[in-house]
Amino acid sequence: VWLRVKNVCKQNGLLIMSVLAVVVGCLLGFFLRTRRLSEQEVKYFQFPGELLMRMLKMLILPLVVSSLMSGLAALDAKCSSRLGLITVSYYLWTTFVAVIVGIVMVSVIHPGGAAQKEDSEDSGKPIMNFPSVESRVGFSQYTVQTKPTSARTPSQSVTRPPLIYGIRDDNGSDVQNFSLDLTPPPDVLVKTKEGTSDGMNVLGIVIFSATMGIMLGRMGPNGSALVNLCQSLNEAVLKIVAVVIWYFPFGIVFLVAGKILEMSDPSAMGKKLGFYAVTVVLGLVLHGLFILPAMYFFITKKSPIVYIRGILQALLIALATSSSSATLPITFKCLLENNHIDRRIIRFVLPVGATINMDGTALYEAVAAIFIAQVNNYELDFGQIITISITATAASIGAAGIPQAGLVTMVIVLTSVGLPTDDISLIIAVDWALDRFRTMVNVMGDALATGIMAHICRKDFIKEGDGHTLVPPEV
Ligand code: ASP
Repeated sequence: VWLRVKNVCKQNGLLIMSVLAVVVGCLLGFFLRTRRLSEQEVKYFQFPGELLMRMLKMLILPLVVSSLMSGLAALDAKCSSRLGLITVSYYLWTTFVAVIVGIVMVSVIHPGGAAQKEDSEDSGKPIMNFPSVESRVGFSQYTVQTKPTSARTPSQSVTRPPLIYGIRDDNGSDVQNFSLDLTPPPDVLVKTKEGTSDGMNVLGIVIFSATMGIMLGRMGPNGSALVNLCQSLNEAVLKIVAVVIWYFPFGIVFLVAGKILEMSDPSAMGKKLGFYAVTVVLGLVLHGLFILPAMYFFITKKSPIVYIRGILQALLIALATSSSSATLPITFKCLLENNHIDRRIIRFVLPVGATINMDGTALYEAVAAIFIAQVNNYELDFGQIITISITATAASIGAAGIPQAGLVTMVIVLTSVGLPTDDISLIIAVDWALDRFRTMVNVMGDALATGIMAHICRKDFIKEGDGHTLVPPEV
């Protein structure tokens, strides 16, 4: 027995250390809360965690660009359009399923209390209250500023890091701004804020790199110099991941504890808010642990448990960082080394998924919007539920893979059915925690999708590859 334990520890040392880091981080965070540290002390304490975030962010740009360019260049036009079509359709489908799960859960649990029109004079149809939530694309900070709508909602102002991309309400419509971000000028691709990668427009980068990759593929031998460069860059990034990953358990302790030090008093959380959080978590568990793995099983006929075991490290990083973009390098490594997925598939499916496929976010947006309707005693008709399901899907696609981006794109969902955007303040208190769980589901969705695509396209890739194995020649 001792030998077996030793073996397990040896093989999964990093994973075990990361799990322990989350536990130690929680304990340390709650212990230090009793010590009432000053703001400055908390900042110092958070430094090792901030370092972890920066290490991960530093890898996003080279990884996404090199993955997509070399990945798509390796496929012929027919193959890449087939893979692209199946991938995007699958992503849309699972996101929509997630929204339906959210709607069913929130309708059954009804966390916002019973809808009784007569007991409130000031509720009923909510007043249209357009964005006091302001968000900007690019490199500036955005602020979620909420006014008190009633005694139950104290005024709050939360300044968040800049969005990678999102909705912009300063000039031009959301759709205009969104389409502008799809075709970024070169400076937007690389411009960063204060030396971090916060200001990146990842969706724009994905579109640019994918287009470049397709063109390089068409250029044949003329494009091979750049393709080789991208392949080397891609491998170098993974080598860096293999080194910095040993810092992660240490960083996670401070990341988790630092967040706990910042959070508002949990006892101040109302009963309804508690039920809301439970509804979101149950929905995420149902979608992430049952529906998505079941889809994987039905399509591939392989064990989802074994597959999920291979990506545990990535799920832990998602839990610790609340960012699917920051988790991307780890997910990439797990899929390649633990789950042995074809590198060419990962290079396309994963970065696209981390950018547009957010099942957890979509589910949460639907639950939150309907919860806000319930709290306002506002009865939604069937048409409005359909509107919520479509806008929650769109809002999740538009949300960046950074902490609490979903909270901001919620404005789209709320305004689409005339709910007060100020009521976002109702859910802010628990959002930092829910964000972690929905990010895990986002990462899980992308990783399972990559396995599914590898299975569906396996024949194309055997033809394209070395004819014997799914592992491409350059591995
Ligand atoms: N934090 C999430 C992610 O990075 C996005 C969100 O729902 O806020 O995937």
